[in-house]
Order: sequence, then structure tokens, then C-alpha cells
Amino acid sequence: MSNFNQESVLSVHHWTDTLFSFRTTRDPSFRFRNGEFTMIGLKVNDKPLLRAYSVASANYEDELEFFSIKVPDGPLTSRLQHLKEGDSIIVSRKATGTLVIDNLMDGRNLYLIGTGTGLAPFLSVIKDPETYARFEKVVLLHGCRRVAELAYGEMITEKLPNDELLGEMVRNQLIYYPTVTRDPFRNRGRITDLITSGKLFEDIGLLKLDAGRDRVMMCGSPALLTDTKGILEQRGFIEGNHGEPGHFVVEKAFAER
Ligand SMILES: Cc1cc2nc3c(=O)[nH]c(=O)nc-3n(C[C@H](O)[C@H](O)[C@H](O)COP(=O)(O)OP(=O)(O)OC[C@H]3O[C@@H](n4cnc5c(N)ncnc54)[C@H](O)[C@@H]3O)c2cc1C
Repeated sequence: MSNFNQESVLSVHHWTDTLFSFRTTRDPSFRFRNGEFTMIGLKVNDKPLLRAYSVASANYEDELEFFSIKVPDGPLTSRLQHLKEGDSIIVSRKATGTLVIDNLMDGRNLYLIGTGTGLAPFLSVIKDPETYARFEKVVLLHGCRRVAELAYGEMITEKLPNDELLGEMVRNQLIYYPTVTRDPFRNRGRITDLITSGKLFEDIGLLKLDAGRDRVMMCGSPALLTDTKGILEQRGFIEGNHGEPGHFVVEKAFAER
């Protein structure tokens, strides 16, 4: 049996000239945990051209969703950005990744820190009822340069709080904190600066990060990950993985080439 399924594109949404999302059919045999990534791609010259992508839809949904960058000369995304309804896409039958709540020790508050397309894994984590069963407050931080890049803001603030299954949990437990560095906006600055200055905690009404109480998942640029890891480790947080749950878990939003 092939390691890949062929899925059909159901819809495409362009957020900006560098970001888009698309939904596809989902083979019922494709299983994943919320927060995981898989390999997706296109056939180019009869060969599969594949890249790692976080699944942005929840594991109980019938369709798959992906949130993508458009890299101008990127081998895959220079093509992928032209996807249309009805096109075929290759999706691996396997998913993996460290950004799953099982890799975290119990705690009171869960911080999800994503920059750019690093938001994608958390879109499925915030749709998981288990997330709200395990944590009292779930703080979703999304950092971008521009306001237009804060994709999914409306889904998070308008749709999810009114969702039949999740609405009450989202209204009581989810705190969404988008921030930008290059436009005027209600929240400004890099996530790491907002953490170290304490401004984030003043704004959301929670106490500063503490390894006894708080758990963190992060997905972003290599620089964000290094800086945020440093801040956490200084405060005694220990990294978790599949074998050993910890205070925080990390995944790259992309690899530098
Ligand atoms: C674990 C993991 C999960 C990933 N999940 C996603 C996802 O959900 N959505 C997504 O768009 N990409 C994701 N990526 C990145 C993705 O695998 C590809 O790199 C991306 O689709 C670009 O592919 P490409 O062939 O066009 O260019 P590539 O040759 O793969 O990348 C070229 C360069 O573009 C930059 N770049 C690549 N991806 C990004 C990005 N997402 N944001 C900012 N700069 C980037 C990097 O500098 C990279 O060196 C993930 C990567 C990893 C390792």
C-alpha cells in the first residue's frame, strides 16, 4: 500500500500575498493527534515534491486544513499557491510531532506561542475539548509583522466561541493575544519582549510564567524558538518530548536552508 493518499482540494483562501489556507478531502484512514504535522505536496515531473505541514484542522473533522506560506522561489509553495478547487494534492498517511498535550506535564495554564504559519498546529489544539479538560486557561499568542498576517483572528474570536461543541469552553478558557511588530495595533511587540517585560501578563490578567503552574508549546522561526527556550530554561522550565512529558515543547515552523 502506498504511504500517501491523494486528496482533492475543496477550497482555497488567500489571506495576503504571502499567506494562504486550503481545505482538502480526508481519507478516513488518516489519523493524527491535534498539533501534529504530516508531509504534503504535489507531483512535479512525475516525482512527489513534499514538505512538512502542520494540520490546522482538528482530528475529528471530516476535512483537512493547511495554513501555508508562499515562498517566491520555494520549490513547493511557488506551485502550491496556485492550487484551485478540484486539484489533487498528496498527503502522507502518517503524522508526527512534539506539539501534543500528552507531551506536557499537568499544569494550570497552557501557553501556545506561534509566529507566522507557526499558528497552524495550535488551530487544531484549540479545537480539542481535551485541551480545555486538562488546562484552566489556554493562552494563544500569535506574532506577525503586519495586522493583515494575523490570519484566523475572526475564526478564533467569532466562530469558535459560538461553536456548539466548544463554545462554552472557548468563552471561559481561551485567551487570544495577537501581536504585531510593524503596524499600529492594540498589541505591539515581539512575544519574547512581551514576556520579559511582563506586559503580556498585565494585559491578560495572569501571573508571570512559573514552571510550577504554566505549560508552553511553541512553533515559530528558529530565532523565536531559541529566545523563548532561553527565557523558559532560565525560569526552570524543562523541555518535554514523547518519552518524557515536560514543562514545554518546541517545533520549528520551518527549517532554514
Ligand atoms: C515540522 C514542520 C512543520 C511545518 N509546517 C508548516 C506549515 O504548517 N505551513 C507552512 O507554510 N510551512 C510549514 N513548514 C515549512 C514547509 O515544510 C516548507 O518549508 C514551506 O512550505 C516552503 O516550501 P518550499 O518548497 O516552497 O520552500 P523551502 O525550500 O522549503 O523553503 C525555503 C525557505 O523559505 C523559508 N520558509 C519556509 N517555510 C516558511 C514558513 N512557513 N514561514 C516562513 N518562512 C518559511 C525558509 O527560510 C526556507 O529556508 C513546516 C516545516 C517543518 C519542519
